[in-house]
Amino acid sequence: METLVFSSPVDPIEPWRTAIEAILPDIAVRAPDAIEPDASVRYALVWKPPQNFFARYPALDLITILGAGADALAGRDDLPDVPVARLSDPEMARMMSHYVLFAVLRYARDIPAFEAAQRERRWHYVHPREAREIRVGVLGLGQLGAAAATELARQGFCVSGWSRTPKHLPGVACHAGREALAAFLADTEILVVMLPLTPETRGLLGAGELAALPAGAKLINVARGAIVDEAALVEALASGRLGGATLDVFAREPLDRDHPLWRLPNVLVTPHLASVAIPASAARQVADNIARVRDGRAPLQRIDLARGY
Ligand code: NDP
Repeated sequence: METLVFSSPVDPIEPWRTAIEAILPDIAVRAPDAIEPDASVRYALVWKPPQNFFARYPALDLITILGAGADALAGRDDLPDVPVARLSDPEMARMMSHYVLFAVLRYARDIPAFEAAQRERRWHYVHPREAREIRVGVLGLGQLGAAAATELARQGFCVSGWSRTPKHLPGVACHAGREALAAFLADTEILVVMLPLTPETRGLLGAGELAALPAGAKLINVARGAIVDEAALVEALASGRLGGATLDVFAREPLDRDHPLWRLPNVLVTPHLASVAIPASAARQVADNIARVRDGRAPLQRIDLARGY
């Protein structure tokens, strides 16, 4: 019997145990405190495991990140030299698209203005704009970004996307490379950040990039807080230069109680849940990768640790 060690500060083990053991009955899914760190522990399914976690399992063949972001393992010195895969689950992409669609529609239909007017019992008519007039820009066209961008296009928005390498997506005007960023931002009214956090994207959106957006633009960040310079963001929001922000992620989580983002009236804060790993659908991918590794093949959705995603 081989063991998969499961560690996450937020995800309960039970649904993963049930789902993975149903597909692979010869694998025991166990929490770290339920097993001895011995040679039977061949697989790890983890989200932000404690420091030195991997040193306890010298016989690992595969590490799977319990999510989409490789930054969960960035900067560790206890990573063994084994493949690291991430989850890639259509249900996770669907959940993310729902959040992005909600946040974009909320701005496109001026809902924050009506929320504010209702608090003052004020009848505040704003004539709705057509979706095709509203320019939405998606930074990052990976598995989650591409799904959200095509869904927004399907809803009729005027959608552009930006990635490192060129892409072709139905209904989405695709741009690539750092040199295309300034023009992309200048043409975006609602900016959706869906990039991974890497050395290249950390601090990518600073004061200059935020100022490149049209006055009153909105920002939706569902990727990682540290991609945006938070001090510059607070300043742009407080001045009204940036019209609003929907933030699911922050440079430090949980967001400090005295952080100015809590108090800005044009900010919606959610606690990092735009999308989560869903055992019933993602367990199949975890099991398939275990089967591949057992066959001596490389796992799918492998992270390029040097590239950072
Ligand atoms: P992918 O790794 O599939 O895609 C990343 C995209 O970003 C690719 O299009 C890639 O370009 C682009 N990219 C990477 N680096 C650069 C760069 N330097 N310049 C321009 N484009 C770049 O990621 P996903 O779509 O699966 O997920 C995106 C992020 O969402 C995750 O990394 C994670 O941090 C976050 N996330 C947040 C969740 C939440 O609940 N808030 C839940 C799940 C994920 P190319 O295609 O050319 O490689």
